[in-house]
Amino acid sequence: MSVIKHLASGCRWIRPIVLMLLVGGSAIADSPGYGDLRRGMIEEIHADVRATVTYIEKDALDKRVLDVMSVIPRHAFVPQDQKPHAYENRPLPIGHGQTISQPYIVALMTDLIRPLPGHRSLEIGTGSGYQAAVLAGLVDTVYTIEIIEPLGKAAATRFAALGYPNIVSKIGDGYYGWESQAPFDSIVVTAASSQIPPPLINQLKPGGRMIIPIGGRFQVQQLMLVEKQQSGALSTRQLLPVRFVPLTGEH
Ligand code: SAM
Repeated sequence: MSVIKHLASGCRWIRPIVLMLLVGGSAIADSPGYGDLRRGMIEEIHADVRATVTYIEKDALDKRVLDVMSVIPRHAFVPQDQKPHAYENRPLPIGHGQTISQPYIVALMTDLIRPLPGHRSLEIGTGSGYQAAVLAGLVDTVYTIEIIEPLGKAAATRFAALGYPNIVSKIGDGYYGWESQAPFDSIVVTAASSQIPPPLINQLKPGGRMIIPIGGRFQVQQLMLVEKQQSGALSTRQLLPVRFVPLTGEH
């Protein structure tokens, strides 16, 4: 893959070689073959975990996360012309200049928030709806916000068609979170912000976890894990270099 192509793609981790250059519950019918492709995707996620072990400080992700991803029809979340690529371990365009994130990044972000069956999770940046669907297989309720209306509406239609009754979606600026549904056990932000949005900190439960790419637009960002202690104090940990589309909006 050329460097230009790599940099142009969104929502994935940036291999060190590229950094150096820079510095310098579904009801859908599943076509035969998709199961094999999904198994291949899971194998590639395992390989990326091993390749990034020094960043993420673990050599395996939560099996429950990978089990959920091994049955979700990613092909149902991408445009028709991208379906042949649906199970490649890379981001894909979904229109409006946005992307569905790299499967490895979806798996890692989901693992890091430690989803549990009783949890209520907030996602900022619905996009295709794939990350929300992964969360929906692991927690009680997923709230997800998308700022681009056609994407948010298409995702809502997809959730209904595929059968995800525990995903609640809306169109809006996710910078402000979802005050009326707060607090949340976990928050997953799938667009890069220059800072951790204060409303999201306020809406995170004590003991809760947020995963968010931090950094400027069109730059390499850092995937950051934010934990709110029972005291309300925050602890943060930078994990690995990533490249996400920017968090937009009036803020
Ligand atoms: N989670 C998505 C998925 O699984 O397909 C990938 C999302 S894409 C990397 C980031 C999304 O964040 C885009 O759809 C973009 O429109 C959305 N976004 C950007 N700024 C936003 C904001 N302020 N509020 C809500 N969504 C936002």
